Amino acid sequence: MTIEKTIITIPAGTQGSLEEQNACVVQIYGDGLGKRYPIKDEVTIGRSEASTIAVDVPNVSRKHARIFLDQGRCWVEDLGSTNGTHVNDVEIGSPQCLANGDLVTTGGLVFKFIVGGNIEALYHEEIYRLTILDGLTGVHNKRFFLEFLDRELARARRHGRPLSLALLDLDHFKTINDTHGHLVGDTTLKRVAHLIRERVRQDELLARYGGEEFAVVLPETDLEGAVIFAEMIRRQIEKYSFTFDGQDISVTVSVGVATMGPDDDAAALIGEADNRLYEAKNTGRNCVRPQ
Ligand code: GH3
Ligand code: MG
Ligand code: MG
Repeated sequence: MTIEKTIITIPAGTQGSLEEQNACVVQIYGDGLGKRYPIKDEVTIGRSEASTIAVDVPNVSRKHARIFLDQGRCWVEDLGSTNGTHVNDVEIGSPQCLANGDLVTTGGLVFKFIVGGNIEALYHEEIYRLTILDGLTGVHNKRFFLEFLDRELARARRHGRPLSLALLDLDHFKTINDTHGHLVGDTTLKRVAHLIRERVRQDELLARYGGEEFAVVLPETDLEGAVIFAEMIRRQIEKYSFTFDGQDISVTVSVGVATMGPDDDAAALIGEADNRLYEAKNTGRNCVRPQ
């Protein structure tokens, strides 16, 4: 077998075999979220009951991938699966060496490789991240969004500052899944999240609000500014070339925008943005509707 010679950087003070360092993978997306699998010798992933991580997920092959120790390093190898194995979103051809923090994707499952340092602490850190981040897109989840919005609304009210909210929903996303498969749907969600994240400033927040819905909280932004922001995102997604296996897929979003009124709590602001989103859907999609 061809093995790429990537060297793992082991943090100072953590030398020792990977087994001694309790190398493991933690599942961060899909059924089984949060489970930790120690890598002793080898871990196999697949729908076959003989797999170490045996799953009942249609886009995972019977024998999908294996993660194993060899020559003091940890490797991942695809076992000829239908949908391939990815490390940090890049499909692997030959066995690939893993480094601390690498993400291994097998069909609709994502695992994070953890090694070195205090494994218990790293594991708990990862579990905490799971409670506030969405494992697929890496952006904050709904729970964190609701806490953030409450906090920022209180702050905006205290200081008499504006705050706006944009709710984005992918158009006809069910058709994308139905036509191209769930994995293409997942990749589309990741790319959309990435495109929006690049435009979101430090003090703003992007979250995955639901399946194919995203929310952006815009502190210090009035309605006019929020509409400009939403229109920029809408246009960027419309222009972006979503290509899978050489096929171009048209992806657009509808956006509802609302700004905080004097008596608005989080529920009222979300309700207002949601009504505008509904309006955007009803007036042809691929558009922004302000309050
Ligand atoms: P509309 O323009 O009215 O929003 O139509 P739509 O098809 O986008 O809306 P609908 O609510 O009918 O379908 C949403 C779809 O999003 C259905 C669901 O399977 C899919 N979805 C939700 N979460 C995920 C996910 O994590 N991955 C993938 N691939 N699909 C998802
Ligand atoms: Mg939706
Ligand atoms: Mg939709």
